[in-house]
Amino acid sequence: MWTNDFLGLIFPRLCSCCGNSLWKHENVICDPCFYHLPKTNFHLQVDNPVNRIFLGRADILSATSYLLFNKGSKVQNMIHELKYKGRKDVGIFLGEEFGKMLKSSPPYRESGIIIPVPLHRKKYLKRGYNQSEQFAIGLSSSMNIPYSGQYLLRKNATETQTHKSRFLRWKNANDCFFVADPVAIAGSIILLVDDVVTTGATLESCISALSAVPGVRISVATIAYTKL
Ligand SMILES: [Zn+2]
Repeated sequence: MWTNDFLGLIFPRLCSCCGNSLWKHENVICDPCFYHLPKTNFHLQVDNPVNRIFLGRADILSATSYLLFNKGSKVQNMIHELKYKGRKDVGIFLGEEFGKMLKSSPPYRESGIIIPVPLHRKKYLKRGYNQSEQFAIGLSSSMNIPYSGQYLLRKNATETQTHKSRFLRWKNANDCFFVADPVAIAGSIILLVDDVVTTGATLESCISALSAVPGVRISVATIAYTKL
């Protein structure tokens, strides 16, 4: 439509990777950037670096990441756009693309529900959305699996952090999530999702809260993986 072309002149749609203007047929990122995205294909390897992060620390079915994250890389640009520039569409797009790969890949395709790592309340209020939830929305649409941000919640920071010694704070880092409605997810296979995995501490803490629910089994998928 001419109106779209006209609006495109005033508000050019930009590639979230390289910042160049997008062609009409392109969405979120340009074709060359999409072609060169550093996909890990970890979901095809049982023994992969993301899985190894959780080895001996958390009982999960499997873990994977869509992309490799390096400092100064185009993937970092995308994550930055998603987290700080209001580009929810980046999270949804990456979820949809990764979902196309995961929907034929066990154990991810057997998941009954997709659950994002919840954001700190303060950050949520500032940002207006949870970037991991946008990723979950994209995965949900291409894998045809429902998602919900209502089951796994973060405890109020003031409850857990104020007036505590350093040791207790450290202990609490392991205890800052809770399941709001355990009955609703009992017996489910959960796909737990986050933006970037580095040490795995946050995800481990979420897994620990979810694992307390009877019959729950968990897989993990993140947008990107960064080496320590
Ligand atoms: Zn580009």
